[in-house]
Order: sequence, then C-alpha cells, then structure tokens
Amino acid sequence: MREIGKVYLVGAGPGDPKLITVKGMECLQQADVVVYDRLANPALLEYAPKTAERIYCGKLPDHHTMRQESINELLAEKALEGNIVVRLKGGDPCVFGRAGEEAEHLAERGISFEIVPGVTAGIAASAYAGIPVTHRDHGSSFAVVTGHLREDKPELAVDKWRALAGGIDTVAFYMGVANLPLICTQLMLHGRDPQTPVAVIAWGTLPNQTTVTGTLENIEERVAENPRISNPAIILVGDVVKMREKINWFEATLGADSIANS
Ligand code: SAH
Repeated sequence: MREIGKVYLVGAGPGDPKLITVKGMECLQQADVVVYDRLANPALLEYAPKTAERIYCGKLPDHHTMRQESINELLAEKALEGNIVVRLKGGDPCVFGRAGEEAEHLAERGISFEIVPGVTAGIAASAYAGIPVTHRDHGSSFAVVTGHLREDKPELAVDKWRALAGGIDTVAFYMGVANLPLICTQLMLHGRDPQTPVAVIAWGTLPNQTTVTGTLENIEERVAENPRISNPAIILVGDVVKMREKINWFEATLGADSIANS
C-alpha cells in the first residue's frame, strides 16, 4: 500500500467485457479496492488482483442502494488509507454515471483522481444492433437524454421536447423503458413525424441482446409483445434506425431475438 492513494473513475463499457479500454483494464490490474455497480460486467473483476477488496454498491434485491454521499465518502476514505481505488461503472462514467459528483467530492478533499472514459451504452448497443448513431444521409446530430423524467421541472421539459422533436436527428434515451409511451407521445405532440423509426435495444452487446423496432406510433405495442425487453435498455429514435435492415450484424450471428421493422 502506498502512502497516498488515488481514485480511478473507470468506464467498464456497455456489457461485453471486451469493450473496456486498455487503460481501464490496467487500472483494474493495479487496484487495491474495486467499487463496482450493477451495470459493470462482473467478469471484469477477474482483472483485479485476488487480494483486492471488492465492494458492490449497486441495487440489491431489496432495491436498497448505497447513497451517493456514502459512495463519495467510501472512495475518499479508501484513497486516504493509501489504496489505489477503482470505481468501476457501466458504460462511460460521465454519461449518467455520476462521475462528476464523485470527482467533485475527491477534488474538494484534495484526493488525486483520474477519469477513464468508457464506451457508452447509447452508442454501443446501437452499433451492436446495426444502427450507427450518425450517418451522412440519415442523421447529422445526436443527443443523449435521460428518460427518467423529472416531473418537478415541467417548464424545462417543454423546451426540451421541442428541441428533441424538431432539431435533433438521433436521440438515445437512457433509463426510459418505463416511460416509453410518454416519450413517444411527447415527441409526436411536439411535431415529430409518427412514422419516425424507433428501436428499443435491451442488454446491448451481451449474448441476450434483444432489439425491437417500430415507429413512434407503434413501438409501445411491439415492446409489449416481447417479454425479453427489460432493463437495461436504450430507446433510439431517428431515421438511422432504418440502417438495421441492412447491417444487423451482431444478433444475426447470435441468433438472438429480433423483430424486423415493417
Ligand atoms: N454510464 C452508463 C449509463 C448509466 S444509466 C453508460 O454510459 O452507458 C443506466 C442506463 O444505461 C440503463 O437504464 C440503460 O438505458 C442504459 N444501459 C446501460 N447498459 C446497457 C446495455 N447493455 N444495453 C442497453 N442499455 C444499457
């Protein structure tokens, strides 16, 4: 153990363990402590030394999660004890991953840290579903949006829906499955064509990846017909979804379930 520890906020990638970066893997190999959550593939823990302490801080079966303040404090404490701490998060740590809050806390405590980016689910699950998030002909702008919508800020929401419906070609909604009907209705209400293609990609990049495609008008119905669609899933809206008809490569090799666009 060193006198002064350090925290690495590491993106684990979207699911397929090979999608972690080389730098992320090297951090794990040096770790004294790994603090990981539900969406980081547990197979990655194999890279950490056998002696490393492994601390799970994701959702437990009773839905209890460690509070963010406690996680911040845990990272700080372990580093102050002299440990190399890896905070391993699904996807990219800065995309709905709260790395900003953790880094802020460490900075305030004078603890050194690095952020190691990861491959985010919105891009990776889409790529594995045969959908490039941008395309010269079908999409020149791309937004990443939380579908876990805050009802306490309705006036902001209207502006946001207007922008997403009118100005952005491809939109990836994270944490949105429970709000799928609301998302589709709001986009149509604010002017998006009801025929706009939509894909819902569950368990992206993993052997059980499942994709359902449709339009803003009918995707809800199609998802309801497929019991394999569950969290985690990305809702991808935009013309780029059409590309899947030609380049659906991953599920084709797996023989995983998919429902073709009509
Ligand atoms: N930091 C993560 C996102 C965390 S928020 C990243 O950059 O990917 C959690 C949400 O991410 C889930 O609700 C889901 O919308 C999405 N997600 C994470 N892993 C996924 C996967 N393998 N397939 C589809 N969506 C995924």
